[in-house]
Amino acid sequence: RLRYESQTSAIEDETEPEIYHNMPVVVLVGRPNVGKSTLFNSIIDSGQKKAIVTSISGTTRDRSYGTATWLGRQFTVIDTGGLLGLNVRHQDPDVIVNHIRDQTFVALQEADVVIFMLDVHEGITTHDIEIARFLRTRIQGREEKKVVLVVNKADNVILKSEETLKQFDRLGLGSPLPLSAVHSDGVADILDRVIEDMEVRLPEGNELVLGNKGDSEEGKKVSEVQPDSIRIAIVGQPNVGKSSTMNQIIRQNRSIVSEISGTTHDPVDHFMEHEGRKITLIDTAGIRKRTIREKGIEQLITMKALATIERCHVAILLIDPVNGVSTQDQMIATHIIQHSKSVIVAVNKWDLLREVPSSREEYMKHIRAQLRFLEYVPVVFVSAKTGYHMKDILDLAVKVFDERGFKFSTKKLNDTLRRAAINHNPTVTRGKALKIKFATQVRSFPPTFSLFVNDASLVQGHYRRYLEGAIRERHEYLGTPINLVFRRND
Ligand code: GDP
Ligand code: GDP
Repeated sequence: RLRYESQTSAIEDETEPEIYHNMPVVVLVGRPNVGKSTLFNSIIDSGQKKAIVTSISGTTRDRSYGTATWLGRQFTVIDTGGLLGLNVRHQDPDVIVNHIRDQTFVALQEADVVIFMLDVHEGITTHDIEIARFLRTRIQGREEKKVVLVVNKADNVILKSEETLKQFDRLGLGSPLPLSAVHSDGVADILDRVIEDMEVRLPEGNELVLGNKGDSEEGKKVSEVQPDSIRIAIVGQPNVGKSSTMNQIIRQNRSIVSEISGTTHDPVDHFMEHEGRKITLIDTAGIRKRTIREKGIEQLITMKALATIERCHVAILLIDPVNGVSTQDQMIATHIIQHSKSVIVAVNKWDLLREVPSSREEYMKHIRAQLRFLEYVPVVFVSAKTGYHMKDILDLAVKVFDERGFKFSTKKLNDTLRRAAINHNPTVTRGKALKIKFATQVRSFPPTFSLFVNDASLVQGHYRRYLEGAIRERHEYLGTPINLVFRRND
């Protein structure tokens, strides 16, 4: 397989980070102005250079690349930008194909999955037909790469209806997925599909497939992939008490092994042991202190905080008891879950409210309502000032981390899902009923399940959540997101 390292000439940016190596590659192609950059910006992990979005057709710009994470898998995304079809007025197919060959071919060579994007308002143009032919023959046919057909700017019900989308079937690349990139509507379905296709090409953690190992493995830690040290990030809004929590934990923990100071812009990591377990405390708070005088600091804090989440296994989300859960907290929580990180919610400064007898219960209700997607997440009430319940934070962090390694037995998983499907039939879509044939936990850290179904496009959001709930009824996976990947199996 070709990888970035053998193709460095394809990348104009010399500061290509280490992490791009050996990652699956997803390439976005399509005519200029269909919305590739908009999608690119919404899927790349935070803290990276964004692509320029412009309504000027054919604007010349460099290819953008970044990393994205979905269902616990990280991959590189390349936006071929304005490279493809700079000669938009030129209708000669040979010229177009040459152009693809020259400019985008290098990117396509690297690709594991190609997202081919069209504009619902424009329908199918000559260009699109040429690109489709090229993708069918060269990319799908010869290289056996997967192509995901996406129709963008499907901003409303009519535009994304089957009726409207039908016309795109004649490209011979399967049924398209509708997208409204500006509203991020449809992104999840596209990324699900990308991961599904990626798994077929590059099954990851195959050695962990439970079927071969028998069911006696239930609950056993999967040591093959268990990280050496538990990486914990303390996140939350400015002033919520991140530095204080950090200091309190360090003060209470006598077994600090070492501190490694980073460069001016890097966080400082603290290594310690807690009840025999190695822990790395990632410093988030220091970032703010060091950069407080810089311009645009609010945005920088957020970006750095989000980047910190991407480095951790367990995030401790601190909430202010006076202001309650804010929209920023919700955004941080979403980011944690999207990146399949485990999470604990800690309501800090509890010393300020402890006297009020009913407040804890009310608080619980408020938090559960505001962070609704976090019902499996433990909530603790702490005070970084007095040290109240501070030890609980580390105990819980270790506990939820271990949940990331919990292995579900294949038999129990299939029993659970079979029963769930009997109790609540999947709704029939387009005259077709979803059938789950077999399921297995393919990975741990984070827990990832493959569900083999007759047609993955029949899985609806509410049914996915229902199945997730059914799994959690058998094993809670405390504080830990679990990933359900639906794969076609005819
Ligand atoms: P690219 O050239 O393919 O990278 O396209 P851009 O991402 O630069 O988008 C081109 C234009 O289309 C911009 O003005 C976007 O705001 C607009 N656009 C992108 N996605 C959507 C969408 O989902 N709906 C609508 N209505 N406009 C969009
Ligand atoms: P950060 O910006 O999130 O790192 O927050 P800091 O740790 O700097 O704390 C902000 C302010 O809240 C400081 O004045 C702290 O003394 C105060 N603070 C932090 N934790 C607590 C707590 O548990 N109780 C009380 N009463 N004040 C706290």
